[in-house]
Amino acid sequence: MTDRYGRKIEYLRLSVTDLCNYRCIYCMGKDGVCKKSHSDILSIEELTEIARAAYALGIRKIRLTGGEPLVRKGILTLCENIRALGGDIDLSLTTNGSLLRNMTSDLKASGVDRLNISLDTLNEETFNRITRGGKLSDVLDGLKAAEEAGFTHTKINTVLMGGVNDNEIIDLINLARDNPVSVRFIELMPMDVVSGWDNSRFISTDIVENLLRKPDLVSFDGVARVYRPGGFIGTVGVISPLSHSFCNRCNRIRVTADGKLKPCLHSKDEIDLRGLSGDELLTAIREGVLNKPECHHLGEHHTDTPRSMNEIGG
Ligand code: SAM
Ligand code: SF4
Repeated sequence: MTDRYGRKIEYLRLSVTDLCNYRCIYCMGKDGVCKKSHSDILSIEELTEIARAAYALGIRKIRLTGGEPLVRKGILTLCENIRALGGDIDLSLTTNGSLLRNMTSDLKASGVDRLNISLDTLNEETFNRITRGGKLSDVLDGLKAAEEAGFTHTKINTVLMGGVNDNEIIDLINLARDNPVSVRFIELMPMDVVSGWDNSRFISTDIVENLLRKPDLVSFDGVARVYRPGGFIGTVGVISPLSHSFCNRCNRIRVTADGKLKPCLHSKDEIDLRGLSGDELLTAIREGVLNKPECHHLGEHHTDTPRSMNEIGG
């Protein structure tokens, strides 16, 4: 599928739940989310149907997200179902890593190709504060288990926050020096719970690129700019929704856990996919791609979506 600005859309981020076992300060309020009724959330069959339609329309990269996808009942069945759609699907999952330790082999066996693990700090106390109760060692164990289970090209997502973890940038960069992972620094996005935060919390990924002393750009990976500094086993990437517009390289669409197709993360436009099947479902997805906005407007004002990140999936 190609949108009206000539962008080839081949990547679907599919949110499987809005629930989570963490309450990260930049993602959710301290009381978490109002639990939706079971029937408000897409069933495993509906999620599979949407993935099937997307595949038929040329989507070849599917990332499962949430909320925390590993708390979703039936997640392994969903992975198996998506894998069965085609061997040419790049199937990945974004997780906070807390429940990963005992699930890596099953995820591998269910057809997951790659993992993204969120990790904003290597300091136990800061980790506990950011996640409101999480334990850093759980995530580090998960990361290790992923490598032991044979996962490669694992990405570590770090949201940069001034005064919270900007003193650890070098340590986080060094994870990629010493391990075969891609550490990707993401600019904090002013959504929902974050909208009222002080400007000093929002820092540009330029700070990371400057610390890397301008190494050669290895590649663009979707919306990320990726570097491999000399002597590094892994790579370091930056994702800069605020400081550098990347919308011309955006190749993705999203589906929320309650079944709304979002052509752009920051737009309030949504198309309800619930209850659609066959040609109707294909048409709705095509329509979403055709109406994908040219760019977001974060630079001019806050996001246009009223949804929080855990509802959309990042
Ligand atoms: N629970 C999983 C996790 O944390 O990886 C998947 C869902 S989470 C919503 C997906 C990604 O969104 C995470 O990497 C998280 O750090 C990021 N995220 C959440 N709120 C954000 C914000 N306000 N700005 C930037 N990234 C955010
Ligand atoms: Fe949960 Fe991920 Fe949001 Fe943290 S960022 S509260 S782990 S959904």
